[in-house]
Amino acid sequence: MTVPASADEERRIKTVIFENTECGRCDGSGQYGPASVANGVCFSCAGKKTRLTKKGERASNETTRLLDERSSVPLSDLKEGDVIWAKASGWSGFHPIDYPYKWRQIKSISEPRVSAHSITKDEDGNEVRTPCYNVTVTFESIAGQEERTNSLGGSSPEEIMAKTYRQRTDEYREIHQGVMREIVRRFSGATAVYYEDE
Ligand SMILES: [Zn+2]
Repeated sequence: MTVPASADEERRIKTVIFENTECGRCDGSGQYGPASVANGVCFSCAGKKTRLTKKGERASNETTRLLDERSSVPLSDLKEGDVIWAKASGWSGFHPIDYPYKWRQIKSISEPRVSAHSITKDEDGNEVRTPCYNVTVTFESIAGQEERTNSLGGSSPEEIMAKTYRQRTDEYREIHQGVMREIVRRFSGATAVYYEDE
């Protein structure tokens, strides 16, 4: 016997809103501190004026984790100009800044290089040195600052996984749709916006 899909399961989710509240650091202005530091953009909310509540944050983190798990692609599949969902870090003067996940366009991908070795022992007690390869992805800058990934590592160049996924492919759209459905079902801090609600 087939179970009929409920009306909600047939509607396409456009986006998920995570429970949020006005940023307390900047009182919802998005600006904090002198203009000379990061253009006066509030560090706490990254200029977004709102912050996620604990419930919203749990739902948001789980969304990111599921998308990572289900749609990560090997770095070797990516090329300049691809748009991927990724975190980045950069510098504002002497201040290191972590930028949150967003769609970012790849500007360049460095050659893999060996940054370290991990040393383990095989069953005969001999040292086994395993190289750790590192790659840095630089993104087209949005705020005038250079934005790049934290280095991505793996024990061979082929094994380096970008914790990222491509935008605008049918495959990605279906994965995203499935993740959003699951998140809305599991978390009270997540609310679906359906296409026909507009
Ligand atoms: Zn703020």
